[in-house]
Amino acid sequence: MLSITCPVCGPRDEDEFVFGGDASAARPADPHTLDDQAWTDFLYRRDNPAGAHEELWFHRFGCRRWLRVRRDTRTHAILAAPRLAEDSGTP
Ligand SMILES: [Zn+2]
Repeated sequence: MLSITCPVCGPRDEDEFVFGGDASAARPADPHTLDDQAWTDFLYRRDNPAGAHEELWFHRFGCRRWLRVRRDTRTHAILAAPRLAEDSGTP
């Protein structure tokens, strides 16, 4: 089980959080201009890196804030977990 250090609540078990997906996937500025293949690629195709990866996690049973967690996919070590608002804005 992962232990994520929330900047508001401190170290907490993974069970308190909800995984929100890949934080590196940027939503297209105008999705209506995309063809079906480009939209499908945005929705379903993700890189599967071995190493540091940024993910969104919501602290559901804590402060109810979004975090941008940087996790090593090989070791599951949490490298950073700042609040999303401190990083790039709220979702
Ligand atoms: Zn929290």
